[in-house]
Amino acid sequence: MSQPTQPAASAVAFDLRETDLFAFCRKGGSVAGDVATRDLPRILAETAEDAPASAPDETFHYTLTGFMREEAVEAGAVVSQRLFVDVTVQGRVWLDCQRCLQVYPEPIDTSMRFEVMASEEAADSAPMDDDDIDVIVGSKKFSPLELVEDEVLLALPSAPKHMVCPAVHESLVTGADGEVEPEAPPEEEKRPSPFAALAGLKTKH
Ligand SMILES: [Zn+2]
Repeated sequence: MSQPTQPAASAVAFDLRETDLFAFCRKGGSVAGDVATRDLPRILAETAEDAPASAPDETFHYTLTGFMREEAVEAGAVVSQRLFVDVTVQGRVWLDCQRCLQVYPEPIDTSMRFEVMASEEAADSAPMDDDDIDVIVGSKKFSPLELVEDEVLLALPSAPKHMVCPAVHESLVTGADGEVEPEAPPEEEKRPSPFAALAGLKTKH
């Protein structure tokens, strides 16, 4: 497996495969880089078979920005530290269009904020007071690469389709509800019946 391009130098220790996510957020780490599709096995598995041979070399651009918010739990008392990481990923994944059955590049452009929790238990009991923030469990050996891969997977459409198909395949027709549905496969060409063949022989006298 090739090494993903390591991101531009950051003041905070960062490794795509193993980063102390708590420290990264606490110190306000910020990185940007590119990772090839070939380094994202779950994306590779989703890539259409008819994708261009260069598809595994295509890259996703990502950014990760960590930060911390300090909040007084009680007035003048304990201060709690909440850690967050913003993740953006841009790129494309080659998929099969369900409408015209042709391979096409699905653009990926995703942006998400996560609150970084210390443990599964903390994540489970986290108050989901903000729909725009997801919760992840941090680790001192956290894989940002997998987080980037997760984000791409989540951004994939459940029913991949061109915005506008280049040409609608002739085996497809538009149904009454506006949905394009594949036509029933054509019946097998009828073979001449053996009786007809026999009849043909009889006339050759
Ligand atoms: Zn299409």
